[in-house]
Amino acid sequence: MKMLFNGEWVDLPEKRVIRNPQDGSEIDTVPLAGADVMKSAIDYAVEGFERSRKMPTHQRISILQKAADLIQERHEEFSQTLAKEGIKTISEARKEVTRCIETIRISAEESRRIVGKTIPFDQMPGSENRFGYYIRMPIGIIGAITPFNDPLNLVAHKVGPAIASGNAIIVKPHSHTPLSALLLAEVIHEAGIPPAILQVITGRGSIIGDVLVTDPRVRMISFTGGRGTGEDIMKRVGLKKIGMELGSNSPVIVMDDCDMKLAVESSVSGAFWAAGQNCLHAQRIIIHDSIYDEFSKLFIAATKAYKVGDKLDESTDMGPIVNDEEATRVENMVKEAIDKGATLLTGGKRKGTFYDPTVLENIPDTCSLASDEVYGPVCTFHRFKTLDEAIDIANSVDFGLQSAIFTNDLKTAIYASHELQCGGVMVNDSTDYRIDAMPFGGIKGSGLGREGIEFAVHEMTEPKVVCFNL
Ligand code: NAP
Repeated sequence: MKMLFNGEWVDLPEKRVIRNPQDGSEIDTVPLAGADVMKSAIDYAVEGFERSRKMPTHQRISILQKAADLIQERHEEFSQTLAKEGIKTISEARKEVTRCIETIRISAEESRRIVGKTIPFDQMPGSENRFGYYIRMPIGIIGAITPFNDPLNLVAHKVGPAIASGNAIIVKPHSHTPLSALLLAEVIHEAGIPPAILQVITGRGSIIGDVLVTDPRVRMISFTGGRGTGEDIMKRVGLKKIGMELGSNSPVIVMDDCDMKLAVESSVSGAFWAAGQNCLHAQRIIIHDSIYDEFSKLFIAATKAYKVGDKLDESTDMGPIVNDEEATRVENMVKEAIDKGATLLTGGKRKGTFYDPTVLENIPDTCSLASDEVYGPVCTFHRFKTLDEAIDIANSVDFGLQSAIFTNDLKTAIYASHELQCGGVMVNDSTDYRIDAMPFGGIKGSGLGREGIEFAVHEMTEPKVVCFNL
């Protein structure tokens, strides 16, 4: 595929081959842009912003609505591309495409809700004759840097709000999964977006991502990815707004009064969705002592029934890890935990990029699995006797994206939701429950700022005060 550069589909002599993570087969190629190309894209985005900030709201709405309709028409093509280039099974990919349509539609609706307020200036003695208000202004050029795990919808979560709020945006998609982002750009282009309001530039993060991060004309970096990359970007970003959607090792608390069937089904799905390559991955399952054995038995039986294999096979439950290096990293984290005393309950085997769904217990505090994000199909069991003990285990890490609790007791649910340190608490759902309209983001090492269309629009706009001295 070509990349979208200043309203044109552009190719370059140097290419990156896009491969299917499950067997390394070639799917397509994309241009491999260098720093000079990204600098030119920013030059054009300066002009793009002059267009976007003047684009009337009705035009933004109709472009986004039309783009959503076009994705709907090409739903299966989008799903197949996403499943081939990424790590999702075809059924997981279809769900992501459906959510992307929702994200773009909500963005269209949100355009008309960007409102200001009048300000009672006469509250200050001497200001009796002043009248005024504030409006929300787009901030300018947004640099969007995105990960491989949700290569379509997480791009839509940046592009939709940026267009809705009158900004220009340059997307640098993950090097493994640029095709879904380019397809999204294709439909927005076809829907009539004027040149350089949206550009998608493909190339290495360390080269072209760095240009976006350090160029002072880019007014916001909206980053979704690993904590290490995020922290590195923070050191170089300069005077810009920042959105940091990073990882986690989310906790699920299972109380003794829970609906056991629901708790097992939801947590198994939360643990192995997208082969655990999900920022909301249910990594640490914290189970009440009195139901530990029963929960463990049911969870492991459901895990063993998981079908791992070809992503395009309709009956597959779980696909591969993104590449060999990552699969080896996950394997080594599990090995380290076992070497230090953890007990393997099921899984623990790797074949190429496929890693079996894996469950461990008796996790020693000293292993990386206890405190880091595994970002693979691995979860750990922890035992507790009191709710406060469970909350302490949940809060003991330097992450805080979403948490979950399974209980039928209202007081327990409310207490836990107040005490858990994170951006969202799911009661009777796993940690990976999300709709695209809700505020989404983390605290502690899980990030800064919020996405979810209304909230992303807020981050991408600034108030401007207008005051009349009558
Ligand atoms: P990653 O390795 O950090 O890559 C993310 C993006 O950063 C890629 O586009 C990458 O480009 C780019 N990048 C790399 N080095 C860069 C640099 N020096 N300057 C600027 N950009 C640079 O993350 P990933 O492996 O794709 O994703 C995994 C992580 O993302 C996990 O921790 C996961 O939890 C997190 N995540 C968070 C959320 C959320 O919403 N909170 C959602 C999904 C994923 P290249 O591909 O070219 O290297």
